[in-house]
Amino acid sequence: MHPSTRAVHAGRPDREPDAPFNAPITMASTYVAGGDREYGRYANPTWEAFEETLAALEGDGARCLSFASGLAAVATVLDLVGADQVVVAPRHAYNGSIGQLADLEARGRVRTRLVDITDTAAVIAACDDAALVWLESPTNPAMEVADLPAIIAAAHEAGARVAVDNTFATPILQRPLELGADIVVHSATKYLSGHSDLLLGALVTQDEQLHGVLKGRRDLLGAIPGTVEAWLALRGMRTLALRVEKAQENATELAARLAAHPAVTEVRYPGFGGMVSVVLGSAEAADRMTASTRLWVNATSLGGVESSLERRRRWASEPVTIPEGLVRLSVGIENVEDLWTDLEQALQFGA
Ligand SMILES: *Cc1c(COP(=O)(O)O)cnc(C)c1O
Repeated sequence: MHPSTRAVHAGRPDREPDAPFNAPITMASTYVAGGDREYGRYANPTWEAFEETLAALEGDGARCLSFASGLAAVATVLDLVGADQVVVAPRHAYNGSIGQLADLEARGRVRTRLVDITDTAAVIAACDDAALVWLESPTNPAMEVADLPAIIAAAHEAGARVAVDNTFATPILQRPLELGADIVVHSATKYLSGHSDLLLGALVTQDEQLHGVLKGRRDLLGAIPGTVEAWLALRGMRTLALRVEKAQENATELAARLAAHPAVTEVRYPGFGGMVSVVLGSAEAADRMTASTRLWVNATSLGGVESSLERRRRWASEPVTIPEGLVRLSVGIENVEDLWTDLEQALQFGA
């Protein structure tokens, strides 16, 4: 079945007379002994409904585990890397993921090779002796796209495991497991939940043994999701396909209009999804522009129904290879003319 159908129908209670359509919110710290769940850190029926749905979206036979946040899921994958092993990662990946790698490296736990993800030959060369190849495509906020099938195949040939952060594309537009990836990583805080009202992370794999290892880490370290967060994220996912399609339609139109605007020196839009980066002439111009919108919210984060934007280099952790005047737009599902009218008036201050 198509992902848009799976998003609506997966993770529902069995169809029996009087059964509710929706998975209930089960608040429980423990369960009556003798079953599989046992304790609230190991399992929860509401998490399971969310997990079943995301697994069904990412691929046939996939298993999903939810976590307290996207970064809790990232940490669980990086924790699989043995002492002094090599991790290959994009130099422009999500800065929290790069921050975790830098922290591990500073403590002598791993060795990191940062690569330009668009240079496929260089990425493949860097995979030599690597234990883990961490991919993100499109990257945040440079919007670079990786040749996932080629890099995944080469990484496997070199004996490395491959994880793909699929937060920006979502399984509606890109399914890394179908391209050979071992693990898909999500910040469900973003498009999956889609309403800017919670933090949640997830890992998805088709490898049963790997699923068991990751679940063992979650049981042991305890970075488990909240029950209400999992329920809200599941509710949000029911409309994932509609939201992603509308955001993409708006983003395609706005990227074209922005490219023709005199205050914009560069538009970075990979041709799919709802994320667009634009480069203005200076940090000051970008700050004036982001302070001048009335509809678009000047805020970090992304993937909500509401359009938001921010100048990324306002964060000290952002790599210096990201232009000072780069503004990242998370395009929402509002009327495209309303979005453009507001951007156009704010861009008067961005010259
Ligand atoms: C937000 C984000 C994360 C981290 O997720 P949190 O839920 O904020 O912990 C990881 N990767 C990408 C691409 C993100 O956008």
